[in-house]
Amino acid sequence: MTEYLYMRDVDACYIGDFEATVKQAGDDWIVLDRTAFYPEGGGQPTDTGTIKWDGGEAKVVRVTKREGSRHYLEGPVPPLGTEIMGIIDWERRYGHMRAHTSQHIISAVVWDRWQAKTVGNQIYEARARIDLHPLKLTEEDVRWIEEECNRRISEAIDVQIYELSREEAEERAGVERCNMELLPKSVKKLRIVQVGDEICPCAGTHVKNTSEIGTLKITKKESKGKMRTRITYELV
Ligand SMILES: [Zn+2]
Repeated sequence: MTEYLYMRDVDACYIGDFEATVKQAGDDWIVLDRTAFYPEGGGQPTDTGTIKWDGGEAKVVRVTKREGSRHYLEGPVPPLGTEIMGIIDWERRYGHMRAHTSQHIISAVVWDRWQAKTVGNQIYEARARIDLHPLKLTEEDVRWIEEECNRRISEAIDVQIYELSREEAEERAGVERCNMELLPKSVKKLRIVQVGDEICPCAGTHVKNTSEIGTLKITKKESKGKMRTRITYELV
């Protein structure tokens, strides 16, 4: 099992380089004992970067959690047991952290006013899209969401990451608001991301304080079927 270093708390989301040992090696991939690379999933894209070792270097082009945690490489593959240094492409990752944290804020703002759920999301570098249901929005509503998000962002709220038992998380966050009914019953402990009073289980990487997000600008509103609305936004 690979230890995911960013999981521990919000400070650990800022680990940009780390040392690890190669535990498995294939034609174009390796598995490490520990990693700070985020494997694609939950709407957040893979991290990319570089690994270096005595006498070699390769690019990390994709990290996945399927079939163990594989780091796919471009270049030579270090043999089993090699001690490597991993370096994340930080600008890209930090863009994901800002976009992911802002997604929690939009989800909370929309839930608080309309009790509409976040039913899909895709994060990119400093931009994202989010699908909300059941929800129909006017142009005026869209401007209101943008303003309310920016108001919360400008309050410079600390973000916390910690573990809670499933029961406690369900009680404090609300099962419906965070789609907790979709989590397998076997999951008893949840990693919680808290932004102000809003808590939600999430395995992604986030910034420490909402002031790092910047200004949120909604660029598009689309209808994606009956009472399903997609909002696309960027951070400037
Ligand atoms: Zn998240």
